Amino acid sequence: MRLPRFQYLEPKDLCEALHLLELHGEECRILAGGTDLLVRMKQRLLRPSWILSLKNLHELDYIRNEDGALCIGGRTPLARVLSSPVVAEKIPALREAVQSIGAPTIQHYRGTLGGNLCQDTRCLHHNQSAFWRSTKQPCHKAGGRICYAREGSDRCRSTHQSDAAPALMALEARVVLSRKEGTRILSLEDFYTTRGETPLAIERGEILTEIQIPLPSSGSGNAYRRIAYRSAVDFPIASAGVSVQVRKGRIQRAKIVVGSIASAPLPLAQAGACLQGRPLDDEDALERAAQVSMDHASAFAVDNVGSTVEYRIRMVSVLVKRALKEALHRAQSREDEP
Ligand SMILES: Cc1cc2nc3c(=O)[nH]c(=O)nc-3n(C[C@H](O)[C@H](O)[C@H](O)COP(=O)(O)OP(=O)(O)OC[C@H]3O[C@@H](n4cnc5c(N)ncnc54)[C@H](O)[C@@H]3O)c2cc1C
Ligand code: SF4
Repeated sequence: MRLPRFQYLEPKDLCEALHLLELHGEECRILAGGTDLLVRMKQRLLRPSWILSLKNLHELDYIRNEDGALCIGGRTPLARVLSSPVVAEKIPALREAVQSIGAPTIQHYRGTLGGNLCQDTRCLHHNQSAFWRSTKQPCHKAGGRICYAREGSDRCRSTHQSDAAPALMALEARVVLSRKEGTRILSLEDFYTTRGETPLAIERGEILTEIQIPLPSSGSGNAYRRIAYRSAVDFPIASAGVSVQVRKGRIQRAKIVVGSIASAPLPLAQAGACLQGRPLDDEDALERAAQVSMDHASAFAVDNVGSTVEYRIRMVSVLVKRALKEALHRAQSREDEP
């Protein structure tokens, strides 16, 4: 499949990029690694007149500690995240998520963390070639009034399948969005709208310039688990990001986020509450948290990412439990750290 025609912009720095983005408005799309954007363009899901490349914006390629947070530039390649000793030591959930993205070629060649968070939602009925789609009426996502994934649905229920997003949401990460007039900071929970048609709260003229992750303190642990059809070159069909805080053999706090089930990662406060104050080895509490996660997720999932809803929902409970066990193990081993 060939790319549609477009004009290519290659600004030399962030200032020029923001100026060009404002100038070309709705007609312009940002290109980071292109591993998601170019596929969508080939499928004619997107036909931007202008493409603005972040290639020369080296100022958005960094990982550094700042005021108790790990700050990662929006154009930082996935490979750099994978090789970061701080990420490996303090934020293994992010490392596990990045390690699962697509295939080593995506992780080590072009993919970026900002691009991963900003990818659009997906649906088997929509992410197809233009020829395939031309045989059917447009659905909500394509500006129509029907949904093929759930009969009678008045909105799009396409699925957000980013690996990094649930892991980072469990860690209460924030994103910095920059535009010509200034910047704003959003929690990841606010960054994802939960609407399949327009899944991101990013506005035209804005670039995601930084991801801020509060650095976990002693006695905390985090983990990410996912399942896909194949172990490589496949998006997850269900995933779980978890962070926990433990003290003196008890769980003080647990944050559970389920991914690849709805149009945004699902933060499950009720499931986390099942664990508060419980001993680390309380299997019943873990089972309850996993069950509550599964019940909550079942309200959102539709058949649109290649496996049955029943299977994906059952896997939510398995993945939540696996992630919790690993996070608790990590937290316990860090309890005596200064
Ligand atoms: C075969 C295959 C398998 C894949 N498997 C997975 C998977 O398992 N898990 C997964 O999470 N992803 C997967 N992906 C999707 C994609 O490769 C990754 O999410 C990758 O990290 C996207 O990063 P990128 O830099 O290439 O993004 P791009 O394709 O360049 O951009 C993606 C979107 O984000 C926007 N964007 C990019 N950077 C910014 C920014 N800084 N500010 C604002 N908007 C921005 C772009 O305009 C575009 O809409 C897969 C893709 C393919 C082709
Ligand atoms: S969930 Fe429904 S409206 Fe959304 S892309 Fe799929 S078929 Fe279209």
